[in-house]
Amino acid sequence: MATLTGKTAVVTGSTSGIGLAYARAFAGAGANIVLNGMGAPADIEKERAAIESDFKVKAVHSPADMTKPAEIAGMIALGETTFGSVDVLVNNAGIQFVSPIEEFPPEKWEAIIAINLSSAFYGIRAAVPGMKKRGWGRIINTASAHSLVASPFKSAYVSAKHGIAGLTKTVALELATFKITCNCISPGYVWTPLVEHQIPETMKARNLTKEQVIHDVLLAAQPTKEFVTSEQVAALALFLCGDDAAQITGANLSIDGGWTAE
Ligand code: NAD
Repeated sequence: MATLTGKTAVVTGSTSGIGLAYARAFAGAGANIVLNGMGAPADIEKERAAIESDFKVKAVHSPADMTKPAEIAGMIALGETTFGSVDVLVNNAGIQFVSPIEEFPPEKWEAIIAINLSSAFYGIRAAVPGMKKRGWGRIINTASAHSLVASPFKSAYVSAKHGIAGLTKTVALELATFKITCNCISPGYVWTPLVEHQIPETMKARNLTKEQVIHDVLLAAQPTKEFVTSEQVAALALFLCGDDAAQITGANLSIDGGWTAE
């Protein structure tokens, strides 16, 4: 497994769910961590302090809003000035909204494209010069099964995630000779607040009960009939940081209980 001692990982959207699992996995491998994301300050401080005490590394929180390019550049700069480098960048922040397209609020479309897609462009753009200078880097984008297949009522999310898959391939090719890899991970359904919050919207869009949404919509997509865990996604990301993964670049790695095999 990868050793990240002396390295720094920036993980966007790491105050919750999959992002927090990435941060804890990288810290467990010895990396200093730049946390990012929204939430109650006391909750964020609790997670930040837990990373430091559980793994004996340093962690800071960047409050950068992923809809704001200058703040995204500031988050990368925070990692570089605090710890001396940004060696691993995980573009993970994301939101969801579920609605028929003719009722899809334009501001939700704009927010999803900004947070789930454009923020990765701005983060990569800011982090690559330092990675090139040091001759090593790992860029991991959290895509989704929705980077490969669609579901109804998720027009913005599916568009953003297909975009992330394309961005991943392009960046991988540009950086192929610099010992910097760029890959995306495509989870199926992981039980996190993002999934929990879309249940009421899906109930409305499809006229279903909560139990029907969980079993007939979410788990129906996954042949294993189980949710993926955040820790399983984080373990794959950690593998991508190691020397054994040096030749994996431009890949879209599914971890979806068989969803996209169908
Ligand atoms: P989550 O809601 O638990 O976490 C989302 C994180 O993004 C939080 O830390 C939140 O504060 C942060 N965030 C939201 N808006 C932000 C903004 N404007 N600026 C900065 N941070 C912001 O969700 P999750 O399920 O852990 O999702 C993480 C990623 O995984 C997302 O990109 C999501 O699309 C992807 N994903 C999730 C699933 C799933 O089933 N949960 C499946 C496939 C892909």
